[in-house]
Amino acid sequence: MAILVLGGAGYIGSHTVYELIDAGKEVVIADNLETGHIEAVHPKAKFYQGDIRDRAFVDSVFDNEQIDGVIHFAANSLVGESMTNPLKYYDNNLCGTKVLLESMVAHGIDKIVFSSTAATYGEPERVPILETDRTEPTNCYGETKLSMEKMFKWTGLAHGLRFVSLRYFNACGAHVSGKIGEAHNPESHLIPLILQVPNGKREFISIFGDDYDTKDGTCIRDYIHVTDLAQAHILAMDYLMKGGESNIFNLGNGVGFTVKEVIDTAREVTGHPIPAKTTPRRAGDPAQLIASSEKARSVLGWHPEHADLREIIETAWNWHKNHPNGFAD
Ligand code: UDP
Repeated sequence: MAILVLGGAGYIGSHTVYELIDAGKEVVIADNLETGHIEAVHPKAKFYQGDIRDRAFVDSVFDNEQIDGVIHFAANSLVGESMTNPLKYYDNNLCGTKVLLESMVAHGIDKIVFSSTAATYGEPERVPILETDRTEPTNCYGETKLSMEKMFKWTGLAHGLRFVSLRYFNACGAHVSGKIGEAHNPESHLIPLILQVPNGKREFISIFGDDYDTKDGTCIRDYIHVTDLAQAHILAMDYLMKGGESNIFNLGNGVGFTVKEVIDTAREVTGHPIPAKTTPRRAGDPAQLIASSEKARSVLGWHPEHADLREIIETAWNWHKNHPNGFAD
């Protein structure tokens, strides 16, 4: 029996495949390669190129393979793009998941681990954020992920499917081997943008607002290493395999760093002065996002092993300095 990883050629998907294969699991990947990279596909995984909106394609994967459970990363994830092109997000994220669930129900596949996001919460009512806190997304990306969670819930109640939704905070870092890492185009995330400066691809990093109500005025985020996220997916699938009920978990370190602290740490790691300029706030950025991951720790037995910000940035830098052009290098 194999695990089907949808979106297994993307950033978090590819790191999860590496951990699954290290854990001795058989892995099948399906990815449309719209944002994923064929170079990120683990050589020991079986790969299908196709789109989850294509029912015949999804059916053919379930018909050809012995799939025990699904891990679902196949979604668009750019906040800014979701605000200018919301229907793209409804189409891929929601319509794609609807087709996937129809096919899973038809094939009797009843376990799914889902890549969700802290963006489901919107502006938090308090920090650290608990899974039971209010969910009022402030962007269309977060809205579609929340709707996908609800689609799993109602489909599960009707058809006996069980799901685990993992709400990530700020995914970052790269595989310790240096073989795979973060390669978005366009890039919008803080750590890879900072590292473009010592790589000679950007003159300075913009600090999006320094007048927030935080210790140095810049936004606070909970940065979590991609390999720790990957491990949580394996634990979540084991939990479902053992009969665990449908559930939602936050994944973060429970510690927040300001934008300025992240830039300072990147200066230490790279030895580059990394000039920074303060620019206006980015629309929709909450001042602070910090996870309570107590539930994932106690129920799944999850223990992040790369929680140190310096180590996170070291692994990211190890990838980016050798791949300034991403997988094209
Ligand atoms: N940020 C910044 N400059 C950049 C990119 C991001 O100051 O060039 C800030 C952003 O406002 C947020 C934090 O860095 O407070 C993390 O942003 P990112 O886009 O990496 O993740 P998000 O928290 O939006 O998921």
